[in-house]
Amino acid sequence: MSRLLNATLVVWFALTSVAVAQPPPSLTPLNDLSVMAREPFQIFDNLYFVGIGEVGSYVIETSEGLILIDTLWDNEGYTDYLLGNIRKVGLDPMDIEYVLILQGHRDHFAGAPALQKVIDAQFGTAEEDRKLMVESFGEYAPRIDFIIEHGDTLTLGDTTINLEITPGHTPGTTSLQFPVYDNGVEYQAYFHGGPSVRSDDPAVARQFIADIERIKKIPNLQVHIGIHFDTYLSGTGDLFDRAALLAERQPGDPHPWVRPEEFQAFLDDRIQRVREQFGDVL
Ligand SMILES: [Zn+2]
Repeated sequence: MSRLLNATLVVWFALTSVAVAQPPPSLTPLNDLSVMAREPFQIFDNLYFVGIGEVGSYVIETSEGLILIDTLWDNEGYTDYLLGNIRKVGLDPMDIEYVLILQGHRDHFAGAPALQKVIDAQFGTAEEDRKLMVESFGEYAPRIDFIIEHGDTLTLGDTTINLEITPGHTPGTTSLQFPVYDNGVEYQAYFHGGPSVRSDDPAVARQFIADIERIKKIPNLQVHIGIHFDTYLSGTGDLFDRAALLAERQPGDPHPWVRPEEFQAFLDDRIQRVREQFGDVL
């Protein structure tokens, strides 16, 4: 091979790697830690919020270690922030056995590569969203150790999570159903990984609505875990309003997250929003 061709190849590879490299993180009010940092808090015996003001990240505690849900942004300071929040609630990040990434959008997965340098855990996501991460981050996309499929279960110690693929927000949006405990009393929680449609395709919208209708009929869902702070109906408070209620809760008071009727209303609202978004084509 001639020297000239070698040089050309080097340039071509350089350009190619630039084209697929991780785009530099931009700072916006939504991911600026000086604006978005929040004190983490315990919601249930086995569930903790460790996210930021706008987007959630949660830890499920089991008898055999921790499961982290979503990994926040990749801006400077996020790895230390997330690990610090997990320590603040009294948990050890080194006990994380699994990390579930519910969406291939940057605010949910981009913190993963840096996290992977620190913790020894298995990272999972849906195939469609694994592809989405590679499309946007190329070789800097997180390592994915296992692919989540609809109907899978993940068991760690005493805890089993039911995993569902609920497309619409992304092609492989993952949602979870799992038990939470309030002073030992068990409730079933549902955590929708992307309760809005980011597509112009009516077929995607129809699938999304059909999924929500299906979720509405799952028996005994009493708790909704929100992926963003504001995924509640107006008038019922957002994540941090609920956290304030929880902090002031007196013995005998209901748990502010145990509101099955609000979850149903939330799901109805999600359907309504998609119908408004798509109009007559549905
Ligand atoms: Zn998203």
